[in-house]
Amino acid sequence: MTIRNRSLSRRTFLSGSLATAFVLTGSSARAAVSTRSQRPSTRTPWYRRAYRWGQTNITEKDPVRYDIGWWREYWKRTETQAVIINAGGIVAYYPSKFPLHHRAEFLNGRDLFGELTKAAHDDGLFVMARMDSNRATEDFFKAHPDWFTRDGGGDPYRAADKYIACINSPYYDEYLPAVLREIIERSHPDGFTDNSWAGLGRESICYCANCERKFLTKTGKPLPRQPDWNDPAYREWIMWSYARRTELWEINNRTTRDAGGPDCIWSGMNSGSVTSQARSFRDLKEICKRADIMMLDHQRRDDDTGFQQNGDTGKRVHGLLGWDKVAPESMAMYQSGPGYYRVASKPAAEARMWMIAGIAGGIQPWWHHVGAYHEDRRMYATAEPVMRWCKANEAYLVNRKPLASVGIVWSQRNTDFFGRDAAADRVDAPYTGFMHTVVRARIPYLPVHVDDIDANALNIRVLILPNIGALSNQQVDSIRRFVAAGGSLLATGDTSLYDEWGDPRPDFALADLFSCHRRDEAPRLTGATRDAAANGRGAFAPAATGHTYLRLLPEWRARVNGPKSGDEPPPTGQRHPVLHGFDETDLLAFGGTLMPLDVTANAIVPLTFVPPFPTYPPETAWMRQPKTDIPGLIVSEHGKARVAYMPADVDRRYAREHLPDHAALLANVIRWLAGGTVPLAVEGPGLIDCHLYEQPGRTILHLVNLTSEASWRAPVDELIPVGPLTLKVRLQHQTARPTARLLVAGGQRPVSMKNGMGTLTLPTILDHEMVVIND
Ligand SMILES: [Zn+2]
Repeated sequence: MTIRNRSLSRRTFLSGSLATAFVLTGSSARAAVSTRSQRPSTRTPWYRRAYRWGQTNITEKDPVRYDIGWWREYWKRTETQAVIINAGGIVAYYPSKFPLHHRAEFLNGRDLFGELTKAAHDDGLFVMARMDSNRATEDFFKAHPDWFTRDGGGDPYRAADKYIACINSPYYDEYLPAVLREIIERSHPDGFTDNSWAGLGRESICYCANCERKFLTKTGKPLPRQPDWNDPAYREWIMWSYARRTELWEINNRTTRDAGGPDCIWSGMNSGSVTSQARSFRDLKEICKRADIMMLDHQRRDDDTGFQQNGDTGKRVHGLLGWDKVAPESMAMYQSGPGYYRVASKPAAEARMWMIAGIAGGIQPWWHHVGAYHEDRRMYATAEPVMRWCKANEAYLVNRKPLASVGIVWSQRNTDFFGRDAAADRVDAPYTGFMHTVVRARIPYLPVHVDDIDANALNIRVLILPNIGALSNQQVDSIRRFVAAGGSLLATGDTSLYDEWGDPRPDFALADLFSCHRRDEAPRLTGATRDAAANGRGAFAPAATGHTYLRLLPEWRARVNGPKSGDEPPPTGQRHPVLHGFDETDLLAFGGTLMPLDVTANAIVPLTFVPPFPTYPPETAWMRQPKTDIPGLIVSEHGKARVAYMPADVDRRYAREHLPDHAALLANVIRWLAGGTVPLAVEGPGLIDCHLYEQPGRTILHLVNLTSEASWRAPVDELIPVGPLTLKVRLQHQTARPTARLLVAGGQRPVSMKNGMGTLTLPTILDHEMVVIND
């Protein structure tokens, strides 16, 4: 969809008689024109039509060196439709009427925000005014000391030389809304975003008078004196803090819409990391319920999550937001990552792959430069080819439905109350281990919010619960409904062993499905220790690396109620399908943590734990206890449903150590559970992230080639082509003669039909390929 009004200037809109009848923002001006011209497509509000974004993040020096003409050319050649322009907050880029609103040091009375907004509107672009609102200078603090955060000793919280404003004070209820209204009245931006709207993070409790009073009124309790996850007051403080951020989202939207019209939305920035969201009390699910557009501030990959994490973020956000809304993401053109240099160019291949990985997951690209003037000009060439490709193929990148039979469950509540202060280990690593596993195995998947399991039950055939410790009874019930309807389950570690507050349950809430029970007071086993006090149920020990193994059992030995023999098992024998491909080994490296369990009859235990033995000196490296009955994996069948419960934290091990055996084992389990419902198979070399979508009459396969000299260590400097690849895709409509077009390499490929799967070959992929199969 194109912006049909693009050729009309803002001046044209405002001179129209209809336009002058309203107080118009840029967006409502466009809406007025579109109503007049009766074009149905333009009734879609602007924030659902802005697919390509850009941001020059203005520094205080820029008012004396911002070459607006040059940047307008840059907008044009990068096919940018919407820009984010710094307006106010910590720094004002216009002559604000509020004397304490700190002007950019080099502003000199200039209205840089207003000039840029007008230039963008003249060029047919939409403008989001950018706020950065959570702190202020010392003169502001001295004028309104009661608007600022305080620590337990009554001293103000500071960030460098700035003072952090309290989210419960009139700074947020009165001052910031007045600033938003001023910006709308002066320059009519189409909407607002805010870099740090959520205020003070979870690591600091504010004890200002406003917080003391409001918390007491709400809960009847004084503020907790320190973080303590077991303290009911601290738990209430966490939930109260979330609720205030969600309330601010609504207050800010009311403010901007009242002043700027119904399409003048406010959408604060959010992180692609659930742990970051939790630390700043931004409830992704509640926010997505309220958001018209999701502005993601998630600019780069980390080594341990890879580019694929951006595809995951896109699917996670759209899963909550809906696939009909857009989710632009700030993407650094400067060196951001291990090595952080605001005015040096990121290697083009690294920036490009992050963009492509996000686009494949449904994210809209948004180039981001810090500062309006750069001596490293290479960064200006990075975004353009990606943005132009997006424009040319816009129809295939939005309004599409993902196709996947595997769902990986996540829960921000679990990040909070099970993850607590160790969410990276307890929550993120197990999830990441599965994400890497399914990408490596080329199994299309979707992140599924734990409260959306019922809504996803029709399409998802395998639900993965990666160490989801904290589950409410309602969430447990929805998992039961999923299995009762024939869906299969893979759960690991502490899943269902805690309630929604992170308090331990006496046994797994899903013990019957897992076919095992917790042993009373049994210690958690790691490679390093058997310390019951440290590793017991109430206090989770972070993952340890120990010299431990998992033993692979032939099926006749694995059956819990099967024949027992005092003899050594034969070296060969039929094994369970989850051990496919491991015929030449009886052991897999493990190194992680698990606990002894009582396994119920009719379950199968294909893997058992081999306890630690020394690694050094090498003469001592022999097994002291080659066999135990401690299960590493328990599989069972419940009617049509299959269930695999894996006490061993192989998911976390894979995220940490990247051993291919761990990924192969997890993928085997997933495929056994899926029972042939995976809609895609890709054969050929390389690490390829596969995203499958459906639009009316066609199937879209977006392949991202992650095979490079720096797949696991940023930055990538060289892209390495892979191919040929054979693709087998389950087609939606079973047409006799489907056709496939390649939107990156160009041209068409023949498709043959076999068993409902369309089969085609791709000669090569460099960075990505999008295959559109009309069926
Ligand atoms: Zn406060």
